[in-house]
Amino acid sequence: MSPGSVGSIRLMGVPVRVHFTFVLILIFLAVSGIGNNQSAGNNALFLLALMASVVLHELGHAFATSRCGIKTLEVVMYPTGGVARLERPAKPREEFWIAAAGPLVNLALAGLIVAVLYSHNRALDFAAFEQSGDANLADRIALANLILAGFNLLPAFPMDGGRMLRAVLSRIRSEPEATSIAAFSGRVLAISLGTYGLFYVPMLALIAFFIYLGAESEGVASRRRSLSQGVPVRAAMMTEYRTLSHASTFHDAADLLLSTAQQDFPVVHGDQVIGLLSRNALLRGMAVEGPQSYIAGFMDREFTSVSPDTELSVVVALMAQGSACLAVMQDGRMVGLLTSENLSQFLLLRSAGLQLAEG
Ligand SMILES: [Zn+2]
Repeated sequence: MSPGSVGSIRLMGVPVRVHFTFVLILIFLAVSGIGNNQSAGNNALFLLALMASVVLHELGHAFATSRCGIKTLEVVMYPTGGVARLERPAKPREEFWIAAAGPLVNLALAGLIVAVLYSHNRALDFAAFEQSGDANLADRIALANLILAGFNLLPAFPMDGGRMLRAVLSRIRSEPEATSIAAFSGRVLAISLGTYGLFYVPMLALIAFFIYLGAESEGVASRRRSLSQGVPVRAAMMTEYRTLSHASTFHDAADLLLSTAQQDFPVVHGDQVIGLLSRNALLRGMAVEGPQSYIAGFMDREFTSVSPDTELSVVVALMAQGSACLAVMQDGRMVGLLTSENLSQFLLLRSAGLQLAEG
């Protein structure tokens, strides 16, 4: 479970986790809605509709993602919107439509409400928020959806519009360049919103803070993705590493941990790899069972393995999901080890090499 998430629901087979900051925003909205010209029930109804709009927005993304043949592994809800983890990185063309699908849902919802109002001979009241009341609930839901669409279409990371901008830019620029432009516009947006917010709307300053963090981490994640594209696992894996036998004790493992720079050890039985022992599992086992016990009970038997020909960008995605160490297997034999440290080192070297080539 991602750090900071407080609960999870399943929608169309996709686990949707809620980050605690998202709940804070909901509480703020609920409290600030009390006392106007609206009844408590009406206030609750508006919040429910707002939640439903946000969830439908995310389902729009999930639907477009599955249309591209990509599985959504998880969505985490933040105040700036949902962040989806995909099974494989989307290509620029796919990314454009996946990003656009969310705001399109909100535009469609607003359009639907406007059409219903119109059929009752009413026009949308654009000033509905100034006099929130039971009579203009539908207007406010439509306006909220327009705001959601507009906010998400801002051409800056981590908004959907930032992803669309990156996808369009990557047709005329290199992908790392497109990424840094979208991340830069995210930081500019965050700083201008934050400054405005400090003076006029404190809530906006908080949201700006999240945009800034989002722009930063999006920038880092996409740089890692583009650096790893088209590179096989073979190029980055460790080929010199030590292994433990299935009959090793925690004492043996601790010796190896101290005498090498390795943190994760493949556990072998004959020439078969039967598990991986991470440093954390080693420490835990040592503390629980004592140094003379066998490591076999604490190693990870369900370890992830990849082929040496797997694209490194797939590994970047796997490691973002928490696999710190992967076994590289070919024809049932282990040919290498890939840890998050040596992946980071490889990407650093590659980006230095690319800079050298460009400069
Ligand atoms: Zn979105």
